Amino acid sequence: MTLTGRLVVLCGAGAVAIGLVAWQGGLGWQDLAHLGQARNVVELDGQEIRIPHVDSTGERLAPAVPVSTAGEHTFLFEEDGEPVRLDPCMPVGWVLNPAGMPDDVEPLVHAATADLAQYTGLVFQYEGTTDEPASFDRLIVQERYGDRLAPVVIGFSDETETPDLGGATAGLGGSTSITGAYGDQRYLGAGVVVLDRDDFAELMRSQSGTALAEAVIRHELAHVAGLGHVEAATELMHDENTAITEWGPGDREGLAIAGAGPCA
Ligand SMILES: [Zn+2]
Repeated sequence: MTLTGRLVVLCGAGAVAIGLVAWQGGLGWQDLAHLGQARNVVELDGQEIRIPHVDSTGERLAPAVPVSTAGEHTFLFEEDGEPVRLDPCMPVGWVLNPAGMPDDVEPLVHAATADLAQYTGLVFQYEGTTDEPASFDRLIVQERYGDRLAPVVIGFSDETETPDLGGATAGLGGSTSITGAYGDQRYLGAGVVVLDRDDFAELMRSQSGTALAEAVIRHELAHVAGLGHVEAATELMHDENTAITEWGPGDREGLAIAGAGPCA
């Protein structure tokens, strides 16, 4: 990619097939409140895994953001006409894989998550570094993170390891749409942001590249929160970006809605 050309940011979004199979094993204490309801099970690597419980109070952690703007926005997943969203009653945990991270990018990652929190009303919680590669092939439940959906992983790659980063694509982002432990309501989880380390190194060397680099991270995090691309080139969720570094009115409307989903 060259900076005289255009910087393109694309999305990748994972989806998982859910098996609605009653679990045949023993009941945990949390199962008692849902006696008679089938526990949702997902098949991972040929193994049936019970979808983890969410241990929340059932109350939002932060106030919903009022919708005060209107414009073009889309969602990656919809179910019965409603967007599939993150659970606003739990922190959106995220981990950073610093391998290959260009200098001075880490503060931009923290700033971008804080920005997403502000515009969605979701609480993003940094859980530290990980050595898990940022990849859409990841398992959504992993021993290293305990009995819950894996936190959002943010990391760096290149177009050899991750062919979807080829050409001018600077980043990829998305989440998995999956039912909660019980019932049919779907939520987003186990998000991934993969950033092109070469493009980021080049951005960081260029004039005003820092703002654009942060904008790329925000765009990918918005995919993690469920937003898709739009046609309007004035929105940050346009798939190609030359100079936009601030959210447009449609982005802001979409982010407010993305953060106002039901609690698991
Ligand atoms: Zn995108």
